[in-house]
Amino acid sequence: MNARAPHPAHDFTALVARWKRLARRVGRPLVEVARVSRQPVYALRTATETEAPGVYASAGIHGDEPAAAWGLLAWAEAEGERLREENWMIFPCLNPWGFLRNDRHDAQGRDLNRVFHEAKHPLVASWRRFVGASRFRLSVTLHEDFDARGIYVYQLGNGSRSLAQRALAAAARVIPCDTRTFIDGHAAKRGVIRPVRKPRFLIGEPEARRLWRRHAEGIVNLETPSEFAFEDRVRAHREFLACVVAQLRKASKRVPGSVEAVLPSARGAA
Ligand SMILES: [Zn+2]
Repeated sequence: MNARAPHPAHDFTALVARWKRLARRVGRPLVEVARVSRQPVYALRTATETEAPGVYASAGIHGDEPAAAWGLLAWAEAEGERLREENWMIFPCLNPWGFLRNDRHDAQGRDLNRVFHEAKHPLVASWRRFVGASRFRLSVTLHEDFDARGIYVYQLGNGSRSLAQRALAAAARVIPCDTRTFIDGHAAKRGVIRPVRKPRFLIGEPEARRLWRRHAEGIVNLETPSEFAFEDRVRAHREFLACVVAQLRKASKRVPGSVEAVLPSARGAA
């Protein structure tokens, strides 16, 4: 375990070792996109030859939300070689410095999920370069919340509405939904928040909002409650993603000849 990690859940070295192993299985490089505060930020892109919209997934932008990063890994490991047949862009852990220290923020004490409007920020500059002009059918961002009383999702884009609800129901078999009608400053219905506009109290641009404005047709953002058992939180993230992906694959089959319309096959689009 990395000497600085306070708990195995924050062992960034172990997390990266497993992503590297998985990348070898998939046959695609785990790319070092940036080095921020001497820690590498990696990404895995499974298809490079297609311009059809893919799917974006990320975790770990808040270092004190480790189950999201391990859940993303657990889901990806279960997919294995199948990832290579589809068009994915995955950021396994966007804030390794914070992840190692169980800290929400970066080394400068900033919330990285509020800086995506800053073109010169070292993480954001590299992220923007790597993402380029990519279009995503869907973006899945994974988080945890200390105040949450169950799992809940933020969702944007009409196409992803039922998808988000079904995926939340799948994850709710592990951790029940947060039943509050007002969560994190937003109206919520059975664990689903559909923010109509950027809340006034939100300063700066979060990753998901940047993706929504520039890159993605739909956004789903899962939050698991940090006070619940770690393994359950990891499983909730994994089940959520598995259900999202199952639905995308099913929809691809339903629309004949338009595999790339929903979850593009790298082979099909090449
Ligand atoms: Zn978060």
